[in-house]
Amino acid sequence: MTTDTQLAIVGGGPIGLVTALLAANAGLEPVIIEPRATPIDKACGEGLMPGAWRMLHELGLDPSGAELHGIAYVQGRSRAEHRFRDGCGRGVERTVLHATIAARVAERGIPVVEGRIDRLDQNDAGVTIGGPGLDLLGARYVIGADGLHSRVRELAGLAGRTQRASRRRFGLRRHYAIAPWSDLVEVRWTPKAELYVTPLGPERVGVAVLARRGVDFDRAVGDDRELAELLRADAAGGSRARLGNVRGAGPLLQRTSARTAGRVLLVGDASGYVDALTGEGLRVGIAQARAAIAAISAGDPSRYERDWMRITRDFRRLTTGLVVAAGSPLRGTIVPMAVLVPPLYGGIVERLAR
Ligand SMILES: Cc1cc2nc3c(=O)[nH]c(=O)nc-3n(C[C@H](O)[C@H](O)[C@H](O)COP(=O)(O)OP(=O)(O)OC[C@H]3O[C@@H](n4cnc5c(N)ncnc54)[C@H](O)[C@@H]3O)c2cc1C
Repeated sequence: MTTDTQLAIVGGGPIGLVTALLAANAGLEPVIIEPRATPIDKACGEGLMPGAWRMLHELGLDPSGAELHGIAYVQGRSRAEHRFRDGCGRGVERTVLHATIAARVAERGIPVVEGRIDRLDQNDAGVTIGGPGLDLLGARYVIGADGLHSRVRELAGLAGRTQRASRRRFGLRRHYAIAPWSDLVEVRWTPKAELYVTPLGPERVGVAVLARRGVDFDRAVGDDRELAELLRADAAGGSRARLGNVRGAGPLLQRTSARTAGRVLLVGDASGYVDALTGEGLRVGIAQARAAIAAISAGDPSRYERDWMRITRDFRRLTTGLVVAAGSPLRGTIVPMAVLVPPLYGGIVERLAR
């Protein structure tokens, strides 16, 4: 097999692009394969927790948005607030985030090939990938950063069990042209959904709805009268402030049997995802990207597996625990408990801020 490149990164979402920048910093010569044009939008709560924000800064990236100073849990009249002790995060529109990272990738001269990978073969020396309309590309290593429904994960035999349809959760997001009323991310709990409200700029707020299959965005917002009022939504769910269409993603839970198969490594949502409830996808994905590049640079891809487990342990435990509680009779006690035991709630928020 001819090896055309040292490292092919499949997927040019935020994590694929960050992986490419880290690879270039490490002296590797990455190539990105991505079918869609920049900037790519996606359903996302768009909250960069302080840890994610710090890691982007370390790469010299500074996408514009609104400062985030903490997280509030809200249910009816109950409200628990915790302000981050060290530093702040940032609410950044997804297209702004993507365009900022993509501009740096272009500045660094990292090639982006337009295409969708649907073929992968590997032997001891390297990996060959291809797709419709693409020449076969040989690489010493391939990183799959192709998102929740990763094709690389499937082709490398790394997909895990799928979740029962009745338990699957989905995410929807819409923007509103309205001044943020808080500098905190609000997670608003209704009987059937979590509404994740993120300040994104002086006249911009994002609302993400997380719920089981069949959720209707406007009905979910309408179930939270205070939020509907703040968004100036009418009884039918309409609002003068709403912008664009609702975007959706899911099912959110994606399991993997492992994250490395020979010379193929998975990062970001492709490597397995629990849920958006704790708003950590980008922080965890960037940390995975760092570990994957360190393992490849050391010529020891298998060490990534251990690092992935360590990096994601807290995220997997906390998010799984919260999602299980949210789907159980305990649901109604989550916000009252956060109000009653501030050190517990503050400790959890500080953990998310890391
Ligand atoms: C509703 C919702 C709210 C969220 N809120 C937050 C939040 O507030 N904070 C946070 O940090 N995270 C949040 N997340 C998680 C976050 O959005 C993800 O973790 C993040 O987008 C992962 O980025 P990625 O680059 O791994 O995947 P993606 O952004 O999905 O990028 C994958 C890329 O791969 C490309 N691709 C797919 N298939 C192929 C193929 N076969 N060949 C080549 N390319 C391919 C796609 O075109 C895409 O560009 C949220 C997620 C959801 C759904």
